[in-house]
Amino acid sequence: EERTLAMIKPDGVSGNYSDDIKRIILEASFNIVKETLTQLDKDTASAFYHEHSSKSFFHDLVTYMTSGPVLVMVLEKPNAVSHWRDLIGPTDAQKAKISHPHSIRALCGKDSQRNCVHGSDSTSSAEREIKFFFKDVVVP
Ligand code: ATP
Repeated sequence: EERTLAMIKPDGVSGNYSDDIKRIILEASFNIVKETLTQLDKDTASAFYHEHSSKSFFHDLVTYMTSGPVLVMVLEKPNAVSHWRDLIGPTDAQKAKISHPHSIRALCGKDSQRNCVHGSDSTSSAEREIKFFFKDVVVP
């Protein structure tokens, strides 16, 4: 078993996609180990995305990520990290609609910023991100 961090971003929560996305998660045989609905503040969103702090889109990214509540989940199954990345599709939701029409970002994303979901990009990112939100969850 492997664990990854999944997040339904503010546009996904406010657009009422949480139930549809959770249905996709459960149909793909992930176990939802933990979940929490939370409002990120500027410091928390900046820390979560610190690797992008020098990017031109960073300020807008923090504004977007703090624009409403997010649903954060720890997902578990074999190859959880890569499987969840496959399910969410490419970063740019416009492109996802063309190249990966059955992906979650094609379903509920708008563009390269408002792409409705997050997934850890490696097992080491997953470990960091799970600890970031759930200090008591052990990554096996
Ligand atoms: P995430 O880390 O959220 O799962 P990702 O790994 O597909 O997304 P990253 O390159 O890590 O993409 O970018 C992090 C987030 O920053 C994206 O999900 C998106 O919301 C935002 N972002 C990325 N590129 C751009 C861009 N060119 N313009 C605006 N926002 C962007």
